[in-house]
Amino acid sequence: MSATKFGGRIVICVLRNDLRYHDNEVLLWAHNNADHVLPIYCFDPRHYEGTWHFNFPKTGPFRLKFLLESLGDLRSILKKAGSGLIVRRGEVEKVVPDLIQTIGKSNVHAVAFQEEVTKEELDVQTALVKNLAGTGIKKIWGSTLFHKDDIPFKSDRVPDVFTEFRKRCEGGATIRSTLQMPDQFRPLPPGIEEGNLPTMEDLGQAAPVNDSRTAFPFKGGETTGLDRIQQYFWGSNNISTYKETRNGLIGSEYSTKFSTWLAHGCLSPRKIYEEVKKYERQRTSNQSTYWVIFELIWRDYFKFVALKFGDRLFYLHGLMGVRKPWKRDQRLFDAWKDGRTGVPFVDSNMRELKSTGFMSNRGRQNVASFLTKDLGLDWRLGAEWFEYLLVDHDVCSNYGNWLYSAGVGNDPRQDRKFNMVKQGLDYDPQGDYIRQWIPELNTIRDGSVHTPWTLSLGALRQSEVSLGETYPNPIVKAPEWNRHSHRNNKGGNRGASGGGRGKGGHSRGKQRGMDFYFSSSQKK
Ligand code: FAD
Repeated sequence: MSATKFGGRIVICVLRNDLRYHDNEVLLWAHNNADHVLPIYCFDPRHYEGTWHFNFPKTGPFRLKFLLESLGDLRSILKKAGSGLIVRRGEVEKVVPDLIQTIGKSNVHAVAFQEEVTKEELDVQTALVKNLAGTGIKKIWGSTLFHKDDIPFKSDRVPDVFTEFRKRCEGGATIRSTLQMPDQFRPLPPGIEEGNLPTMEDLGQAAPVNDSRTAFPFKGGETTGLDRIQQYFWGSNNISTYKETRNGLIGSEYSTKFSTWLAHGCLSPRKIYEEVKKYERQRTSNQSTYWVIFELIWRDYFKFVALKFGDRLFYLHGLMGVRKPWKRDQRLFDAWKDGRTGVPFVDSNMRELKSTGFMSNRGRQNVASFLTKDLGLDWRLGAEWFEYLLVDHDVCSNYGNWLYSAGVGNDPRQDRKFNMVKQGLDYDPQGDYIRQWIPELNTIRDGSVHTPWTLSLGALRQSEVSLGETYPNPIVKAPEWNRHSHRNNKGGNRGASGGGRGKGGHSRGKQRGMDFYFSSSQKK
């Protein structure tokens, strides 16, 4: 291919977590600064290796399916606008320079991409910039509600308390309007092979089995994301009761389910914000409509916390170096991850995650508290397990929330321990959620399903439940659970408490490749 063939300036847009056309500043900048735009997505083999410490598969089947669907959707939207999407397999920092060599360096005006803030993503950016010496680079901020340049403090001065962050942002920063994207987008340079989208099998994974109990049948792409806004706001009006329902556990309507589209960049938070404001003008404005924005500010907060603290987001001792006696115990961890702890509220949530890739916020708070406070396990086991399975995995929201749950975040006041029995009874009083995910217990009626260990032998026999056989005895029992057992039944302390050998942990960088999870010495 000759260097003169293109007869104009080319901008290459490296897409990663910004898989949308609407409100996409990287694409718009390229459109305004080039004759040809080359949007490219690379399937980076590093995303399909093991997680950092424990070597779980890094991208699980639910997220991969969503990703492939999102790319298919973006490709067809770009095609309709007169462009297309280049797809390659390989490391971004190698694929892009190779591509530039093919099309001729002098034809390429710049390479543009959305800035990321966490280690692995920054490493890729750094390597890319190094390998592109002599080519223009345009980094663009684009994933938060408040733009990085508009928040009323420098990134190293982000407040350590969320409320202060929120109030100062709400008082001192405006949210930028969504961008007007062109109907017709700059075309691809001629003669470029677009490349097929790989299948799940190509990437070594089987498609996940559809589970009819799923909270939401996620399908990737901005088209379905925009449909979800339409339906949750304008169709069902469920946004107007969000504050009352958001702690729910069953079904599609208790919360927005926006997280999955946001994590992949299929929805812009500013687009959601504008729709909330429109809804408030045209239908109703109440605490619930505001609360959706409030939660989006939590999402921003975790991004800015990651920007401030860098690699410490992944440290065992957290953002402030708080030392706790974490342990690693394969038996306890396996029980947690497989939903076989004998604590129904934990098990049901963990089984939902494993079967569907999703878990409610209430569930996440509880299973994280259980892992870190009741079992005392290294919090990163939980974070990496979530990284593997969550369809909406977002590195800042995931690790940020885990740090909070583990009590090693930047706000020590957040170090709360949840009472599994009280939480279960508060948010699932009749036990419907438990019976949905734990068929072994579905003959136990009402809320007593949360505390099967408090039932008499006769009641258990009648329900055909045999603790320790058909369903486990609890692997730990916190004393505070007794106060909240259903109908105050008196339960004996039959559960075994978990032992485990302590093991220190250090920074993310230092522990790379420990391979704890699959190491034979630790396998049962
Ligand atoms: P809604 O209740 O409808 O909230 C609206 C939006 O606000 C969400 O889509 C999300 O973008 C944002 N939001 C709400 N709560 C939080 C929060 N606590 N932190 C950050 N953003 C929030 N969220 C992720 O997007 N990715 C993750 O990997 C992730 N991991 C988590 C791990 C743990 C241990 C915990 C406790 C929470 C985690 N969350 C994560 C936050 C939250 O649980 C999910 O965003 C939420 O449950 C997704 O459902 P939804 O979109 O219906 O939320």
